[in-house]
Amino acid sequence: MQTELEALLALQSDDVVIHGLEMRLAALEPRVRELDARRTRLSESITRSGTAVEAEEKKQAWLRDKLAEHKQLIEHNQAAMDHVKTLKQATAAAAQMEQAKMIVAADESDLLALNRRLDDVRSSLAAQRTELATVEAALEAARAEVATEKAEIEAEMVTARAKRTGTAKAVPAVLLGKYDRIRGGKKRTEVVFAMRGMSCGNCDTNIPMQRRHVMTSTAAIELCEACGVLMYFTPGE
Ligand SMILES: [Zn+2]
Repeated sequence: MQTELEALLALQSDDVVIHGLEMRLAALEPRVRELDARRTRLSESITRSGTAVEAEEKKQAWLRDKLAEHKQLIEHNQAAMDHVKTLKQATAAAAQMEQAKMIVAADESDLLALNRRLDDVRSSLAAQRTELATVEAALEAARAEVATEKAEIEAEMVTARAKRTGTAKAVPAVLLGKYDRIRGGKKRTEVVFAMRGMSCGNCDTNIPMQRRHVMTSTAAIELCEACGVLMYFTPGE
């Protein structure tokens, strides 16, 4: 015949198993969530990089047009220089030519800098896309893995809960009520502790002689007034 204490300890060990399963279930989601957050951040970066590439491409097209226009200006000036009649006209044409060449040189250097910038944003966009593909693959794998593990844990949980229901039947109703209340209120795994010598096995508070005497003589399971757990006395310990 199982004693009250044995029944209670068996119940507690069932609850420890259930708690372990709950912890495992709770640990599953964060694995997916982290990857999902990374994917979102990457998608946002890709959108930003895409916008930057478009803006730089527009500037590039505009700069190329401007350069072409200014190069035409040089050709015009060249033609004008071929037809000058006087020294004064020649001097003016040469000055204009000099200015046009400077403008074209400036355009070319602007375009060069812009091309470099465009290369940079394009390659960072490509790198982000590659990373996104990696993260998406990892996310898919993690989702499948989590789903499998979740199903396994849930199946174990059904068994563990059924076992717990059976075990609970052997615990006297009043004691069971007390145990469940303490466990629910404290949100902790273990609430039944063996006494350590003359003290509570959980908080080490010394138990008065009078109570200790009652506990040892009646094998009663008592509440620790200091920390609120259930204590029991084990003979010979
Ligand atoms: Zn205590």
